[in-house]
Amino acid sequence: MPDTTSPFGGFAIDFGAAGDAAPTAAGDAAPVAVPMTTPADGPLETSVLILGSGPAGLTAAIYAARAGLAPIVLAGYQPGGQLTITTDVENYPGFPDGIQGPELMLRFRQQAERFGTRVFDVEVDRVDFSARPFRAWASGVEYRAQAVIVATGASALWLGLPSEERLRGRGVSACATCDGFFFREKAVAVVGGGDTAIEEALYLTRFASKVHLLHRRAEFRASKIMQARAESHPGIEIHRGVTVDEVLGDESVTGVRLRDVATGATSDLPVDGFFLAIGHRPNTAPFDGWLAKDEKGYLVVDHETHSAIEGVFIAGDVHDHRYRQAITAAGDGCRAAIDAERWLESTAQSRPPPRRPGERSPRGDAPPPRARTECR
Ligand code: NAP
Repeated sequence: MPDTTSPFGGFAIDFGAAGDAAPTAAGDAAPVAVPMTTPADGPLETSVLILGSGPAGLTAAIYAARAGLAPIVLAGYQPGGQLTITTDVENYPGFPDGIQGPELMLRFRQQAERFGTRVFDVEVDRVDFSARPFRAWASGVEYRAQAVIVATGASALWLGLPSEERLRGRGVSACATCDGFFFREKAVAVVGGGDTAIEEALYLTRFASKVHLLHRRAEFRASKIMQARAESHPGIEIHRGVTVDEVLGDESVTGVRLRDVATGATSDLPVDGFFLAIGHRPNTAPFDGWLAKDEKGYLVVDHETHSAIEGVFIAGDVHDHRYRQAITAAGDGCRAAIDAERWLESTAQSRPPPRRPGERSPRGDAPPPRARTECR
C-alpha cells in the first residue's frame, strides 16, 4: 500500500504531480488526477477570492472569471472537494451515462481556468475580514481581495475511537474510491446508514469478497433507491441496530467489535477493511470569530448568499446541510458569484487590481472580456 495519507484517512488518491495517474481502483473507475499548482510569493491581490474548490467554489470561479473579475481560488487540502473521493455521479445533469466524481471536478477546474481563474492548491489558515481589502493567509502567503466567497465545504466524520485513529491508513479509511482497490477478495465493513454508506458499500463490492453494512438503526436515512440496491445486492450483508465499539487489529485491521443496540451484546466480525461513511462536518475553522454558525456548526447565510459581513459571501456545503448535492452547491456558487459581482459594482470595486511589476495576467494575456453572469 502506498504510504500517502489522505486527510480523509486511508491511502489517498495522490494529487501530487500534474499528469500523474492516480491509483486505479478499477478499469472503469479510474480517478483522474487533478493537477496541483502552488502560489508565487505573496501578497496576491484580486477582486474576488474564492475559498474552496468543490462544485460551489469552482462554479463561482467560472462565473466570476467570465465577469472579468480574475478570481483566485484557494483549492484547499482536497482539491476538487468531496466529489474527488466519490465514484459514479449519476445525478449531475448533462451526463446521461454518469461521470466519475474526480473527472467531473477536473472539468469544473479546467472550465474555471479557461476563463482566467488562478487556482492554488493551498489551504486557507486564517482570515481577517475587519476591513477591505479582506485578507486571507495560506501556506505563509497573504491574499487580498475586495470580495470573498467562502465555499470550503464539509469533511468526513470519524467515530472517534482510539483504535480507529491508530489503524487509519492500515485498513481504516473514509474513502472507498481511494482505497477499495486494496481489498480485492477481502471482507470489509462500512458504517453508516445514509446515501454515502450505501454508495461506498456498492462500490466496494467491485473488489471485496463480502461487504458488511453496519447501521445503528433499523431504518436507513438513505434514499429508497439506494437502500433497495444494497438490500438486493448479493455481496452486501446488512447489519441493523449495531454500533462499533472497537476496530480490531495490531498492525492492520482484522475485525470490528459490534454492539447490539437492543441487547448490549458484543460480537466480533472479522474484516480486513473498515470504511467510515457517517456524514460530514463543515470546514469553518478559519472563520471562527468572523462568521456566524448555526447549532450544527454550519455557516449562517444572512440573505441570499451574503454573510453578515458586507462583501463576504457563502456558498455550498459549508452552509447547506439540507441538500448537499453537487448540483445545489454549483447553483449556490453561481449565485454567490453574481451577488459578489453586483455588490462590487455597487461599491465600484469591480475592476481587478493593477498587476504588480512583472506579474503576468492569469493566462499571460489580457483579462477576458466581461460577460453576462446569469445562471444559464
Ligand atoms: P447522512 O445522510 O447524514 O447519513 C449519515 C449516516 O451515518 C446516518 O445513517 C447516521 O445514522 C450515521 N451516523 C452518524 N453518526 C454516526 C455514528 N457516530 N455512529 C454510527 N452511525 C452514525 O450523510 P451522508 O450519507 O454522507 O449523506 C449526506 C448527504 O449527501 C445526503 O443528503 C445524501 O442524500 C447526499 N448524498 C447523495 C448521494 C447521491 O445522491 N448519489 C450520495 C452520497 C450522499 P442515523 O441515520 O441513525 O442518524
